[in-house]
Amino acid sequence: MKPDRPDHAAPPDAAARRAVQPVVCYPVDTLPPPDLVAYRAAREGARKVSETIVPPRDAMAFDVPAGAFFRITSIEGPQVGDLNLWNADDLSERFFSGKTRALHGTHVSTGDRLWSNLPHLRPMATIVADTLDWYGFDAFGGSVHDVIGTRCDPYTHRLLAGGDYHHCCHSNLTRALAARSGLSASAAEPHVHDVLNVFMCTGFLRETGQYFMKASPVRPGDHIEFFAEIDLIGALSACPGGDCGAEHSSDAARCHPLKVEVFVPAAPPAGWTPPARNAYAGGHGA
Ligand SMILES: [Zn+2]
Repeated sequence: MKPDRPDHAAPPDAAARRAVQPVVCYPVDTLPPPDLVAYRAAREGARKVSETIVPPRDAMAFDVPAGAFFRITSIEGPQVGDLNLWNADDLSERFFSGKTRALHGTHVSTGDRLWSNLPHLRPMATIVADTLDWYGFDAFGGSVHDVIGTRCDPYTHRLLAGGDYHHCCHSNLTRALAARSGLSASAAEPHVHDVLNVFMCTGFLRETGQYFMKASPVRPGDHIEFFAEIDLIGALSACPGGDCGAEHSSDAARCHPLKVEVFVPAAPPAGWTPPARNAYAGGHGA
């Protein structure tokens, strides 16, 4: 955070320096936009092949083949979900929250892609529907479905509050991946990564830049739906923070389950092919 009383005096032209107009770091005009019309046409009549109920304060893994859709739905009551994605054939390729944020902004919605880590850097999933897209940004700068948070974890909890809490999203995701992959919890843990915070309402305080959360506007029936660009293993944690309106990393908040459904279309979207890994050859000038 910036100090209330800086050690250094502002230069005479400070106002002019502060008035310089920002430029977008990563304009995405050169990226071909997803063909949402073709995705939605494929989605018509797609067959539901699985349903997973994620219990409160726990996580579940699920599989989505390339070319299929998966939908996360709020059921029973307001609840935030922490989502991890891996390449089903290679756990070292996983969702890259930071670059997704750099490309699409702090909060994602329909038409945005969830990108994989370096050196792969390709779309893992594309958002095709979001019933909370009406929210936009509120007066606090808050919005839903962020890629700015990390996940609640037992280490930060220990650091700030003391004590061990085992049902943080990080631990929930670790157990879910271990159960799906057959890895031990300690072998699965390094594969857990920064999440997409599904349904969570977050932002940065204007005065201090601190990460904030507020009660999610999600209501039962609200959902976000994705198209799987490659074969995926997903894991979703129903955060112990519930709607994340007050606190997390405890059993205090009222929590609800989340539903994950997978739908396979009769035919893939017209013109769609699974994206290749990034074409950079990896020389790094060495
Ligand atoms: Zn959490």
